[in-house]
Order: sequence, then C-alpha cells, then structure tokens
Amino acid sequence: MIRFEGVVKRFGARTVLDGLDLSVAPGERVTLIGPSGSGKTTILRLLMTLERVTEGIIHLAGRPYSHMPQGPAGGLVPSDERYLRTARRHVGMVFQQFNLFPHMSVLENVVEAPVHVLGVDRDEAEARALELLDLVGLTVRREARPARLSGGEQQRVAIARALAMRPEVLLLDEVTSALDPELAAGVLDVLRDVALTTDITLLCVTHEMGFAREVSDRILMFDHGRVLESGPPDRVFEAPEHERTRSFLRAVL
Ligand code: ATP
Repeated sequence: MIRFEGVVKRFGARTVLDGLDLSVAPGERVTLIGPSGSGKTTILRLLMTLERVTEGIIHLAGRPYSHMPQGPAGGLVPSDERYLRTARRHVGMVFQQFNLFPHMSVLENVVEAPVHVLGVDRDEAEARALELLDLVGLTVRREARPARLSGGEQQRVAIARALAMRPEVLLLDEVTSALDPELAAGVLDVLRDVALTTDITLLCVTHEMGFAREVSDRILMFDHGRVLESGPPDRVFEAPEHERTRSFLRAVL
C-alpha cells in the first residue's frame, strides 16, 4: 500500500532522507523511532504531500509521487495530481498541534471534511461523527468550541476528525507530546482502541515506547535519514542489534 523507493529529501544542503526504501503493507502498524532530526516527521509529511521528494519515488495505493520537472504552468505534474487525490482520500494525519477549526463546534469540526471534501450527505456525516465522538468519549462536548476543551480532549476531536474521512492509512506525528501525562494517557487509550480494533494502516512517530510496543507490528529505528534497524517490537526493544539503538532506548525508556 505504501512504498518508498530510493527516496532522498534535502532541505538546502542538508540531506534529511538518504535513499530510503520502505514498504508498509495494508493493515500493518509501524512505529518510527529515532533521535530528533533523523527524518521521521519528514516521512509522514511526504506521504501527505506537505513536502515534495528531492529524488526517488513514493507509491501510495498504486499511485506514484516523484520529483519531476514542473508541469507547463509550473503546477504539479499529472502523476502528482493523482497522488494528491489518493493522499486526500486514503490518508489521515494527526499532528502534535491539534489544528481544530476554532470557530466551529466539536461536532462541526468532525462533520466538515466528509461533507465538503467527500460530498457525504450531511445527516449521514453527522451520524458518523456522533459515532466517532462516542468512540473518543466526547459525545457530551459535541456543541462546545475547541477553546473550551482540554488539550487531551482537543486531540481526541482531532483523531475523530481524521477518522471521519474513513482513511485507510492514519499518520500520527507525536500526538501526545504537547500534553500532560494524564491527558496523554487518555489519548493513547483511544488510539490503542483504533489500532487494535480496526484494520487501519498505521504509521506512527512517537516517544511513547510503551504504546509503540503494544500497538506496533514493526518498529523502525531511524538514524541520519536511514533505517538503522527494523523488527517486531519485542526484538527491537529486548535485543537491539545496533549500539546506536541501545543508546537511544536507554535515553528514552
Ligand atoms: P523530531 O523527533 O525532533 O521531530 P524528526 O526525526 O521527526 O525529529 P524531521 O522533523 O523529519 O525529524 O526533521 C529532519 C531534519 O530536517 C531536521 O534537521 C529539521 O530541522 C529539517 N527540516 C525539516 N523540515 C524542514 C524545512 N521545511 N526546512 C528546512 N529544514 C527542515
């Protein structure tokens, strides 16, 4: 479903991803770990088309996304446009910052994209949004504005909003790092539920190693824009192959 082939990403002279090859199967749950600046967030941003690759190619649900000369009017080339549509339909992302629409109620935040992007009937979108607010434990706050909610509640709305698009892939980028531990625990409970009870493909960047261990099929340890090691959580956490992984885990566990 997701395949990176020889992906290079540079920002100016700095090479952030250095020839990355990576495949993620449908329904697989993968957590990216590694030191700050090793390129983890960049991988998620490339998948969401928030960044362009410098070299190489990414396939998402069979659609390619690659660096090519700009189209005639300086716009995206056709393969990128098809990829963009695929990314919008198939991929949801939750960020460290919640980015909710401040002028809308909780319910409106969840209903908005299915109605305006997917063209779902409003009643149907509302019914689905209420189911999702129930899943994240926020039915009673459905009429509140985001500013009245705690950070943990806002993040749970952001999760419901991402799921409302029925994505096949969910990208989670440090979703609890702006939260107090107690609020973070509530958000992780919701995500654990989503990860373990649905067949969604999950790509997760987190420093929450307990969560990573519980929900992941595979852990990828990054260093300097490359996958240093990869394996099932028990193997990577209990018997890391590389000294760099050992020292990283000692620092975060
Ligand atoms: P962290 O755990 O700190 O979030 P990360 O592994 O997710 O780190 P990235 O956010 O992918 O790392 O960033 C990798 C490197 O790319 C960093 O050095 C960062 O400063 C740099 N970088 C990311 N985005 C940009 C940008 N838009 N312009 C310039 N440099 C960038």
